[in-house]
Amino acid sequence: MIDFDLTEEQRLLEQSVREWAAREVAPKVHDLDREHRFDRGILPQMADLGLLGCSVPAEYGGSGMDYISLGVISEELEYVDTSLRVIMSVHAGLNCLSLLTWGSEDQKRRYLVPQAQGRKIATYGLTEPAAGSDVRGIQTVAVKKGDRYLLSGEKMWISLADVADNFLVFAWSDLDKKKQRDPSGISAFIVERAFKGFSSGTLKEKWGILAGNTGFFKMDDVEVPADNLLGRPGEGFKIAMFALDQGRFTVAAGATGLIRACRDASVRYAKERKAFGVEIAQHQLVKEMIAQMESDYQAARLLWLRAGYLKNHGRRNTRETGLAKWFATVASERAAGDCVQVHGANGYSDEYPAGRFYRNCKGAVIYEGTREIHKLMQADYVLGYRADKATRCELPPYQEKVNQ
Ligand SMILES: Cc1cc2nc3c(=O)[nH]c(=O)nc-3n(C[C@H](O)[C@H](O)[C@H](O)COP(=O)(O)OP(=O)(O)OC[C@H]3O[C@@H](n4cnc5c(N)ncnc54)[C@H](O)[C@@H]3O)c2cc1C
Repeated sequence: MIDFDLTEEQRLLEQSVREWAAREVAPKVHDLDREHRFDRGILPQMADLGLLGCSVPAEYGGSGMDYISLGVISEELEYVDTSLRVIMSVHAGLNCLSLLTWGSEDQKRRYLVPQAQGRKIATYGLTEPAAGSDVRGIQTVAVKKGDRYLLSGEKMWISLADVADNFLVFAWSDLDKKKQRDPSGISAFIVERAFKGFSSGTLKEKWGILAGNTGFFKMDDVEVPADNLLGRPGEGFKIAMFALDQGRFTVAAGATGLIRACRDASVRYAKERKAFGVEIAQHQLVKEMIAQMESDYQAARLLWLRAGYLKNHGRRNTRETGLAKWFATVASERAAGDCVQVHGANGYSDEYPAGRFYRNCKGAVIYEGTREIHKLMQADYVLGYRADKATRCELPPYQEKVNQ
């Protein structure tokens, strides 16, 4: 049976996040964006609402919500501000869900619990100055010394780099495999900002998601206890890909919220603005842009709902999540471009939100798999070059609580 309705609980969540974001966030968004300022004060509020631990079961300090709820939150947050949804993507999606799935009991107690409670903020460090799409091109290394690893390298374009306390970091722990570019030589580590040799900074020249923090971090022989290895040695690449399946889901739902924001702003403006004696909404070519936004919104929403459904049932969903992310982000770029267009010259001014939507939508077409990488993936599934494991769950066998 297919049920397109949200449950009563999910509907109430949607309503409460929507009301909170409209009341607490929307009035500040314009100024934060203009001042390029990340509002740290929003984090305790998100923690109080249970948003930061939404994807984590109550036994690990979270609010134990399902994937559809995570999607609902992501969509509602990005409807108001992309930088808020980014927090959900890196903290709740990429990081917490990886710790929940791959972490030892001890790691969950030490790291997942404070993160789910919002006492610690976490992010994900894969990209480097010379390697983004080409994950095997990363240069960061982890050299084992007794009961520790020494991590050295630099990560770039990291969301919340200057805000987060904990970082999920990927590094080559097998240097022979690094030479051969064999991904089974990559391991994943939990790194604390407090570890000696760790430093970070904010990227100042970024032109989108200006109310969000994006930066770099450097590790200079950072001593990481062997207990902070996530999964087994050599499982880092798999963990990185698993994490992206979670992050991409929040990006897909978030971009869906951005399309809705573009649609609503366009509808408002098109009914206010007059040209040739009638409101511009009466002109068929303006209607066409609004109709496209509506069809993109509805299709994007169905795609993330399907991915969330598969996740809730513990089913493999890389293909469906990738499609949802690709479609929604590309459609959000189209919607934001047309939102500016509907606003005419006013869309070219920061007095209206259209310009911010236009700057904010582009990041998601680049991160968590660029448009081109997703195109290739979808083509390869259809062509049979990439196995479609949609009904097989490939999660670690030693982890009993998976994708609940
Ligand atoms: C705002 C923002 C936030 C980010 N946050 C994070 C984060 O929190 N953590 C993190 O680890 N990373 C983060 N990233 C980095 C992001 O994941 C990378 O930018 C992305 O993976 C692309 O890598 P790249 O920039 O090195 O581009 P490249 O990989 O160099 O690609 C450049 C261009 O070449 C194309 N290309 C590359 N390879 C192929 C191919 N095989 N076939 C066809 N085309 C190809 C790409 O599609 C793209 O158009 C963030 C990026 C941005 C913009």
